[in-house]
Amino acid sequence: MQVFLSSPRGFCAGVVRAIDVVDMCLRRYGPPVYVKHQIVHNPHVVSDLERRGAITVEDIEEVPEGSLVIFSAHGSPPDDFFKAKALNLTVIDAVCPLVTKVHNEAKKYHREGKKVLLVGHKGHQEVRGTMGQVEMTLVDDTAEAELTDWDSEEEVAVLTQTTLSVGDTAQAINAIKDKFPNAVVRNDICYATTNRQDAVYKMAGLVDIVLVIGAQNSSNCNRLREVGESLGVPAYLINGPEEISEEWLVGKNNVGITSGASTPEVLVESVIDSLSPEKVTMITGVEEDIMFNLPKQLR
Ligand code: SF4
Repeated sequence: MQVFLSSPRGFCAGVVRAIDVVDMCLRRYGPPVYVKHQIVHNPHVVSDLERRGAITVEDIEEVPEGSLVIFSAHGSPPDDFFKAKALNLTVIDAVCPLVTKVHNEAKKYHREGKKVLLVGHKGHQEVRGTMGQVEMTLVDDTAEAELTDWDSEEEVAVLTQTTLSVGDTAQAINAIKDKFPNAVVRNDICYATTNRQDAVYKMAGLVDIVLVIGAQNSSNCNRLREVGESLGVPAYLINGPEEISEEWLVGKNNVGITSGASTPEVLVESVIDSLSPEKVTMITGVEEDIMFNLPKQLR
């Protein structure tokens, strides 16, 4: 068996920054350090930080008064900041700067009097944070836009979740543009999402199966699996080697491996080890050299 390793894969700059924030707070302030929502969508990363004293909560009200709380990389609605203030919490926001950019765009277009549409997945943490910034309407990237009661002359601004499928989003945007020809459209899908999907497109022609390493609740991991499937290659999303089913590999000589933006490389290595391939071929992709500054409290 031969393994083809997609590149780029794994951690993006926003995830590195968010993990660094928790790591630095643990070292600087000592445990416990509260984290609102999983700092990034990967159970391996979360449990590693929890072993060192991070406590993940879903609701700000679970954080004891006066404590330090870190907000996750996905971004948070203003309500969470108000609640934190009421509890006298010190907030360090580990939101990815590329998500903040979407929040700022939403505020700008709202101020200009435009109706804001967000293409994204209902219930995802990033969507909750973005939807809280100003009044806006959510459009699923796979569904027909249900915008029938709006006038087609309406001034509309279209934003997107950062971790969507590039292909599906283009279709959703076309549907919106058909209805609102004057819509201002921002492409907010981030560089890491785009590069990882492009790399799977490149790899798909060489492999019989794609294994995406990452968590089930990771949006960008799910999109990588869908890209593989859309190209006719069986694709599976797994946390690690223990989730590989032997029957997937029957008759498969060329196994493609990639990982989402929140997946540590150690999990990719453990999957490769478990497959014991005769050869591992790295498919060269776009070089990424993006880095983000830490929040000002930690600089
Ligand atoms: S996937 Fe993109 S938006 Fe999300 S944390 Fe990484 S760089 Fe930021």
